[in-house]
Amino acid sequence: MAVTLQGKTAVVTGGSRGIGRGIALEVAARGASVVIDYHTNRQAADEVSSRIRELGQTCVVVQADVGDPVQADALVEAGIKVTGSLDILVSNAGITRDALLVRMTDEKWSEVLRTNLTGAFNVTRAAGRQMMRQRSGRIVLISSVVALTGNVGQANYAASKAGTIALARTAAKELGPRGVTVNVIAPGFVETDMTMSLDSDVISAYLASIPLHRSGTPDDIARAVAFLVSDEASYITGQVLAVDGGMSC
Ligand code: NAP
Repeated sequence: MAVTLQGKTAVVTGGSRGIGRGIALEVAARGASVVIDYHTNRQAADEVSSRIRELGQTCVVVQADVGDPVQADALVEAGIKVTGSLDILVSNAGITRDALLVRMTDEKWSEVLRTNLTGAFNVTRAAGRQMMRQRSGRIVLISSVVALTGNVGQANYAASKAGTIALARTAAKELGPRGVTVNVIAPGFVETDMTMSLDSDVISAYLASIPLHRSGTPDDIARAVAFLVSDEASYITGQVLAVDGGMSC
């Protein structure tokens, strides 16, 4: 039987583009109402919203910087407003600002930690408060395989994504007794705006390191998210699932 999310409400951060867009469309296709945020690109968010409405589902678009706790709270609040409860949070918004460690500026370090780790904390805290009261909920945080391996030029990004795993495991322990699961998906190399700006030799090197011999798609990640946020995954929490074509094995 296909995984259904009928009647549920999901907040997907960074749902306007790339992997977040794929997740928003996937959970909507399985029956969920969706709240997506965008940071700067309203047009992309509106396109996703139209697609979700064509599927017959509700979609609310919110402009938010997840690194700002007030805006993160407002985003989660928009999700609660749809039906009065919040079933699903997917913390996906993320950025890269690559540089070698010894050339990494304070700004690049802080900007990435603020969006990727503080942003994940802000929305998890806000959703966690609501879900604890409800005594139910599903949270998935999007990390990266580089959290496990490190990556040249990505000290800031890898550290933010490793922090996301520790955040999720802690949240799983604190929220589990109230019926809330918290898991992590660690994508490998997925074709999105984030990766398509890389040099072609870097892309070739990534592809050569993937046993399944292809890059991932947003849909590959979205299908794994759909399972983890469904009723079928009710006994899975505190786990990190690499969805990477075997890149990290
Ligand atoms: P992307 O195509 O660059 O999309 C990023 C999304 O995050 C956009 O919707 C963007 O909104 C939003 N965003 C950025 N900064 C934000 C902020 N401060 N507040 C709220 N929203 C913000 O990236 P992606 O490749 O889909 O990546 C999605 C997630 O997967 C990230 O966490 C990334 O680290 C992770 N990941 C990606 C890969 C990969 O290979 N692509 C691999 C591993 C992990 P705007 O459009 O308005 O800027």
